[in-house]
Amino acid sequence: MSKAMPGFKSGDQLSSRSVLIWRIVQAVVWCVGAGILTCLLFFPSLGILLFWNILIPVAPALFVTWPGVWRNVCPLATTNLLPRHLELSKRKRLSVIQSGKLNLVAVIALYVIIPLRHAVFNSSGPATGILIISMATIGILLGFVYEWKSAWCSGLCPVHPVEKLYGGNVIMSLPNAHCNQCRNCVVICPDSTHNVTPSSTPKTTYHQMSALLITGGLPGFVWGWFHVPDDATITTFQHFAGVYEMPLLGFIITLIIYTLLLNNILQRFQHNLTGIFAATAVSCYYWYRVPALFGFGKFADDGLLINLRNIIPAWSIDAIIIITTAFFFYWLVVRKPNNKSWVIRPQYAKRGSKGLQHTSIDFRRQAYLHTV
Ligand code: SF4
Repeated sequence: MSKAMPGFKSGDQLSSRSVLIWRIVQAVVWCVGAGILTCLLFFPSLGILLFWNILIPVAPALFVTWPGVWRNVCPLATTNLLPRHLELSKRKRLSVIQSGKLNLVAVIALYVIIPLRHAVFNSSGPATGILIISMATIGILLGFVYEWKSAWCSGLCPVHPVEKLYGGNVIMSLPNAHCNQCRNCVVICPDSTHNVTPSSTPKTTYHQMSALLITGGLPGFVWGWFHVPDDATITTFQHFAGVYEMPLLGFIITLIIYTLLLNNILQRFQHNLTGIFAATAVSCYYWYRVPALFGFGKFADDGLLINLRNIIPAWSIDAIIIITTAFFFYWLVVRKPNNKSWVIRPQYAKRGSKGLQHTSIDFRRQAYLHTV
């Protein structure tokens, strides 16, 4: 059982006061998200600064330390889960295989979309806005059909594979501010499973492939991505394909290393290996992102938040990235797994309630056997 916030344990229902507080926080964060989206569409310079150079750089550190916060307040999730909250969803269940397919598509979408930042999204607010609107549209359509987070937040969302890779040893479990009762809509539920990793998922080929690609490929992909400059003037297909070359090269190298290590270590050390690759990926991200944010980047103004080049010494940036790297390796590799989940599973829906014929272990076992 997950250790939780003081005064709240697994299976507890949120009090109506707590629900109200979470709804207010979700509404506030949703308004901030809508504001950023509006800026992206109509004030692109400000929108790009807020989205790509403030919100996104904070996200990986949040996924490592406290992903439950994001799972509870993500504006996209709040939008996509609205049909479910308003009882407008058909609440269908995905089979384990369907869920695995969505996970695999999410990983591929991540690797396809991120290099496009160099060619399009980093310099075009409207393009980024349209990307967000497209994701919200797909998510809300899925929300009208499928139960709780199964189809988008724990399925097709391209950010979810990164949450699962980084969020393996979190600081604290929060109450689940979306699902009022657990309907076992995802096997296994990434929100409610302690020390979840991409490999924690069921062993269908799709889940295994997703875990392999995100864990093995991400460190090299991140490294390669930071060796490509932004270029909004790309017109030819050859140049366009060029934004994929370095990320793909890095992806292949670390994927091969990971596969070799995975095949030569004992099963019980797999969690450690995942931790090492997760720490490498997130450390690599900040190794390049922190200098770029403050004017010490490799490519002039790419990803610039505020230029401190003539104000602070270069060694202070070096010190920050050494500290962040040490922190992530401590957090994800050295620290013992602490049996905490991102959020606490609410109590299971009663047998026979709408959309649920079984409960708990019976249900999970049956769902798994039925679909694998
Ligand atoms: S807590 Fe239960 S209902 Fe909510 S997403 Fe997880 S499995 Fe689905």
